[in-house]
Amino acid sequence: MLLAIEGEIDSLFDRVPFGSHTESADGTFLSINALVLAWLGHTREELIGKRKLSDFLTPQSQEIYRRYRSENGPPLSMADLPLEPLEIFRRDGSSMPISLSAMLGAHSASHLLNTRFMIIDMTESRLQMNGQNISAAIFESPSGTFVTDKQGTILQVNDAFTTITGFSAIEAIGQTPRMLSSGRHNLSFYEALWNSIKATGRWQGEMWNRRKNGEIYVEWLSISAVLDVSGSVTNYVGSFTDITSSKNALDLLSHMAYHDALTQLPNRRLFLDRLGQAISASRRSQFFNAIFFVDLDNFKAINDAFGHETGDLVLMEVAQRLRNAVREGDSVARLSGDEFAILLVDLDSQHLEAAAKARNLGEKILAALSQTYPVGQQDFHCSASIGLELFQDANTASELLQHADLAMYQSKKSGKNTLRFFDQTMQAALAARFSLEVELHEALDKQQFRLFFQPQVNQHRETLGAEVLLRWEHPRHGLVSPLEFIPLAEETRLILPIGAWVLETACAQLKVWEGHPVAHSIQLAVNVSPLQFHQHDFVAHVTALVAASGINPKRLKLEITESMVLDMEDTVTKMQALQKIGVNFAMDDFGTGFSSLSVLTRLPIQQLKIDQSFVRNIGLRDADGVIVQTIIAMAHTLDFEVIAEGVETEAQRAFLDKNGCKHFQGYLFSRPVPIDEFEELLTVRSERT
Ligand code: C2E
Ligand code: MG
Ligand code: MG
Repeated sequence: MLLAIEGEIDSLFDRVPFGSHTESADGTFLSINALVLAWLGHTREELIGKRKLSDFLTPQSQEIYRRYRSENGPPLSMADLPLEPLEIFRRDGSSMPISLSAMLGAHSASHLLNTRFMIIDMTESRLQMNGQNISAAIFESPSGTFVTDKQGTILQVNDAFTTITGFSAIEAIGQTPRMLSSGRHNLSFYEALWNSIKATGRWQGEMWNRRKNGEIYVEWLSISAVLDVSGSVTNYVGSFTDITSSKNALDLLSHMAYHDALTQLPNRRLFLDRLGQAISASRRSQFFNAIFFVDLDNFKAINDAFGHETGDLVLMEVAQRLRNAVREGDSVARLSGDEFAILLVDLDSQHLEAAAKARNLGEKILAALSQTYPVGQQDFHCSASIGLELFQDANTASELLQHADLAMYQSKKSGKNTLRFFDQTMQAALAARFSLEVELHEALDKQQFRLFFQPQVNQHRETLGAEVLLRWEHPRHGLVSPLEFIPLAEETRLILPIGAWVLETACAQLKVWEGHPVAHSIQLAVNVSPLQFHQHDFVAHVTALVAASGINPKRLKLEITESMVLDMEDTVTKMQALQKIGVNFAMDDFGTGFSSLSVLTRLPIQQLKIDQSFVRNIGLRDADGVIVQTIIAMAHTLDFEVIAEGVETEAQRAFLDKNGCKHFQGYLFSRPVPIDEFEELLTVRSERT
């Protein structure tokens, strides 16, 4: 059975394009393929069991072969066999260069049964080497070497090749050098390489390759084309040395060129480079970035009094605190001495928002740097001054750094341990925003909020209801528009207590009106902020309020916006629950969001409010007129009531009326007014009719 299989394998080897034979542990032929028989000019009968390959080797080759065998015992695998060039004698007495390699050995339980060898005829290669003796000189060289044919198929490799790449000759021969590809070079790299070889016959350079074990390494490779007498390419010879370790040394050098030795932070050069990249990136992304110039306030004193070593330790600690303060993607650099720079990327697309974020981070950094520095037995104190500038596009890197430096100088002048924007208006805007925030916190306690009421009328100009609009009676600035403080209130979550106050006050007002001769039928529309609506207890809160105030819930209409519908399930559930107790809903600012019709059909709303931006353009922009007509038609189909807000002119009212919108709100009828004015207005209008 075993024999039968072996016979089959032997006949298989008769068809391969290389010589192959098996031999027993003592070297006697066990099988020989057709090609080897042809080379040696013998029949199988003459050789098998009788002769050894060594019988056919030239004396010099026998020497190599014997040395190898006696030193190493029977070759077991390819990797064990050094690729030394050998020569065999043919029957006609001529010699033939071969490359011999062991392929695999078959073992019994205790010992080696046979070894299969591969023999490659090197005549061609040697002839094609055009007189160059590649065998000895090249193959003993410590450089990794491979020879390919003109198609790039590897014909031969040396020991050093195997040592460096990890691939044995048997694994490499028949492949192309692409087997070593690391994927680190792109197509144009290889194109340039081949262009150079075509033009000059040579290429030299660094190449990143991959070893058999997957490791990436750098080699210095030179490839030369071998030409025959007619000048056409017959072979390529590649020779390379592994320069990975010297490459690492180079990397270290370049690291040193771009980093500060003490803190390992990027230095000014690298920082400017990254700044330049950030400028181009923000040009594309439209996001604001910020650059900080950080200067320690009293570092010099520490350095002078306690010596450079202490100073160095403080600097290292500063570097660490700065690193900790920023996000990944941001950069911290040491510019010189006690000067550091920070690059914050992708802060925000809104200028003021970006400024607020940068300032918050700046304050965090100031706080972190003013913590004590425990060095040795002593605690040191040190603060910093920061100058910063926001940027998006424009400016050059060095100009930005200069601005931040100037701003830093301003913050030093203003008493240290602070931060300053280069842009003074930004500084002012932020300061205003900051004091607004502080005052907003007090506004509820000090009862500075007022509700204004803006009538909502039907086609007969009868006032059916009003929208409740918040005003802040600021002690110094007078009445402040909600547009100026609602965004800030949302950000600080102050909108929650404020919104609760609005709802409570509106409910209380509805209760008061129950006995009012004209106002008893008024419906109040209350704006609800997304944050408020998404509170998990929103439904419970409104339900409790309605119950506590004892009002008819039908008099209460909540205005929601399209942006709230992001979480469809949650929105629908909450609205249905409130609808069940009788509360109504209006969709505010309709048309400005992205609601699709399908969203609308699922929501239990009674009224669509056409946004004033469309109403404003009626008669001015045809497209807006068409949008208004479409919204009205759609609302009717879905059986929603439709109301237009921001109606200022009779022409707008007429257009809306003609197209089927019968409810209006806007300056044409009344501006938002305080409660007493609203009640007066109600009385006057009711008397008129
Ligand atoms: P909104 O809900 O769309 O309110 C309509 C806004 O349009 C009001 O501005 C109103 O004064 C204004 N307006 C009404 N008629 C006309 C008109 O004919 N022409 C013009 N040009 N404008 C008109 P206001 O009072 O400044 O409120 C602005 C926004 O502030 C409101 O927009 C609403 O989103 C928000 N807001 C107001 N009060 C509250 C509140 O109590 N809670 C919440 N969360 N947001 C509120
Ligand atoms: Mg509204
Ligand atoms: Mg609106």
